Amino acid sequence: MIVTGLDSQQLAEMRTSGLDHGQNAVEPFTDLEGGWPLRCCLSDSVVGDKLAIVAWNPFPWRGPFAETGPIVVHVELCDSREHTRVPSQFEHRRQLVRPYTLDHRIAYDLVTIVEPTESLGDALKHLVRRDDVERVIVRNVLAGCYSFTAVHHS
Ligand SMILES: [Zn+2]
Repeated sequence: MIVTGLDSQQLAEMRTSGLDHGQNAVEPFTDLEGGWPLRCCLSDSVVGDKLAIVAWNPFPWRGPFAETGPIVVHVELCDSREHTRVPSQFEHRRQLVRPYTLDHRIAYDLVTIVEPTESLGDALKHLVRRDDVERVIVRNVLAGCYSFTAVHHS
């Protein structure tokens, strides 16, 4: 299983252009408290990080199911590599697991919430192996903000 946050090339473009996916100007701020969940490097921020809240479309396709929403990112270069498992910060957070079909629609019958007492990694491994699932987008339960993407292989 491959777990990714934001596309590193699109991140680089946003950092260069200063515009997010909603064409909003990126407005950096210095983190004074730490603990922002970052979608660039799938880690939590620390005090002193330069961050921005930006509009982002995490889908590699366009269409009615590919919505844009708010996320928090580093405004400077960070380690936005692929992971082979779910980053540990997510294992204790309630997550909305939303699989997408091969024709880029929500696989409604497979949408689920994974509780902190359950294994998010196990739930995702099962879903990404299915022939009728193209990818799984994981989100924050209450706010609906994008967490990360899981696919069977890159
Ligand atoms: Zn980052």
